[in-house]
Amino acid sequence: MNQNHNASPKIAIYPGSFDPITNGHIDIVERAAALFDQVIVALAANSAKTLLFDLEERRAMITEAVVHLHNVTVADTTGLMIEYAAQSHAIALIRGLRAISDFEYEFQMALMNRKLAPNILTVFLMPHDKYTYLNSSIIREVASFGGDVSQFVPPGVAKRLTAKFSNRR
Ligand code: ADP
Repeated sequence: MNQNHNASPKIAIYPGSFDPITNGHIDIVERAAALFDQVIVALAANSAKTLLFDLEERRAMITEAVVHLHNVTVADTTGLMIEYAAQSHAIALIRGLRAISDFEYEFQMALMNRKLAPNILTVFLMPHDKYTYLNSSIIREVASFGGDVSQFVPPGVAKRLTAKFSNRR
């Protein structure tokens, strides 16, 4: 395996659809920012998922949520994540692991990515256990029924969720 002997900054990519970003994602970004010189939150512009928020909205919410982290930036990405990682001179892909249920899919992705790009590491980080049950889809669902999600997402996200669903009701 290649060792990074020179002084080039250690860059990591944290990919996802972030629809919307939650306190669980932010927990992972903070851990990654403490480990790497630079973290790029790679926002999937062409996600196969049906999304609630468009690209601009998702990017704005992430940018607001990471403003306190000076080595974190946000970028729109399309296509293969390892290609984007290589272009950005990243040495690692960050993934959050919440529960056993995440494991099988994440394991498969990590092994496939290692076959495709042996020099890029997948680094799994665990969030604080108070975030292990959180995901974007449960947040969207609770908010769609008018539930209060303010303890699970940053204030800007809670506001946008309320606005989005009050328009729809
Ligand atoms: P994807 O579209 O890849 O599922 P997500 O935005 O849902 O993207 O998640 C991006 C990454 O963040 C994934 O590695 C996922 O496991 C992780 N993640 C999502 N929610 C949490 C959470 N509550 N705690 C820790 N990691 C999380």
